[in-house]
Amino acid sequence: MKNISVLKEREKHIFQKGKDNFDISCEKKSLAGAVSQRACVFCGSRVVLYPIADALHIIHGPIGCASYTWDIRGALSSGPELHRMSFSTDLSETDVIFGGEMKLEKALLELIDKYSPKAAFVYGTCIVGLIGDDVESVCRKVEKITKIPVLPVHSEGFKGTKKDGYKAACDVLFNLINRNGIQKKVPQSINILGEFNIGGETWMIKEYYKKMGINVVSVMSGDGRVKDVTMASSACLNVVQCSGSVTHLAKKMEEEYGIPFIRVSYFGIEDTSDALYRVASFFKENSEILKRTEELVRKEVKAIVPGLSQIKKDLTGKKAAIYVGGAFKAFSLIKALKHLGMEVILAGSQTGTTEDYKILRGMCSKGTIILDDANPLELAKYIMEKDADLFIGGVKERPIAYKLGIGFCDHNHERKIPLAGFVGMQNFAIEVHQTVTSPIWDLVPRRLKKAKQ
Ligand code: SF4
Repeated sequence: MKNISVLKEREKHIFQKGKDNFDISCEKKSLAGAVSQRACVFCGSRVVLYPIADALHIIHGPIGCASYTWDIRGALSSGPELHRMSFSTDLSETDVIFGGEMKLEKALLELIDKYSPKAAFVYGTCIVGLIGDDVESVCRKVEKITKIPVLPVHSEGFKGTKKDGYKAACDVLFNLINRNGIQKKVPQSINILGEFNIGGETWMIKEYYKKMGINVVSVMSGDGRVKDVTMASSACLNVVQCSGSVTHLAKKMEEEYGIPFIRVSYFGIEDTSDALYRVASFFKENSEILKRTEELVRKEVKAIVPGLSQIKKDLTGKKAAIYVGGAFKAFSLIKALKHLGMEVILAGSQTGTTEDYKILRGMCSKGTIILDDANPLELAKYIMEKDADLFIGGVKERPIAYKLGIGFCDHNHERKIPLAGFVGMQNFAIEVHQTVTSPIWDLVPRRLKKAKQ
């Protein structure tokens, strides 16, 4: 593992602050054979729509696509849990030859009859794109019979990057909203976009807004319900969190309904406070909202600062590597890690833009590696070279961290603990502290060898 080289075509996607001129290549299709950490278009659409709990999610394709994204997020529901089922048309060789439309129609009718969902989402996969099934016409036919919205998700895995999957999901959400027309405005109201209720985060954030006196019309898509989504045009403001995934929808809603949007993050003290204050200042004609926000932030920060200071004593000087889906999350993580006294030695993302990477460059210290659309070997190379103590990522990054013998923190779909908001910052600090200071890492051969030298 010592001398890992980087593929020539991948060199342009890697930037070291202070060493290279900033000219990072990004927003490109992944290099064939490079084993990208990126997910496919279908997976991108699935992660955005998945938390809508009273909808039927059916994957039109081979069973592997369905199992790959089964229960893909730790997105909780306060009611129905239909989203947690993984339905598939399970296309086989015969269907590839003769087409899968009849199978899809039959599956939709049977499932809608059995589970009475409020809408159905039909995800297209690679094979469907290749054999050319007319999914739209099947959806139209079934919609006529069942009288619920049946929407095709144009997410054929090969047709772009994960970002195209986000866009396909946003188009479906917009279709749902638009079917209901423009609704009467709800005063002092927002839609929360790009929040997926992982570990109950949506509930915590909604509680903050409730305390501030803000009405939440819909959340897309954490603890989501089809009816709430269809009412989204009645909100005064769209508050966009996971901007990479839902900015397309926010822009469409701004164009069509004149609803402005702001980009926020609920990770870390700084960004959570900033998010709440920005929403409060949008409704500045009501000075009570700002007063309540100040009170809320003061109380929440006071409750967690002593614990964080204690943890910081052990973490100061430790080194962290971050590899996430959208770069916007990396910005918050860098701030949160600095708060804990840690240094970021690697920051990368699956779908960052040139603008995102420019911001990352500004936030990172000299020597930090910035990576676009990385693969496991590149991540391992720089983690070892920079001797990181912690790796923050998702399900595909976890084995890399453990194989290298360093701490890991899941900041992606699968976790069960909320990391958003003020309490989330406390949970994050505790988790990072537990994993970084675990004595198990001292027994890793790489470290033992170093200690003997
Ligand atoms: S849609 Fe294509 S790339 Fe995505 S999981 Fe299915 S086969 Fe794989």
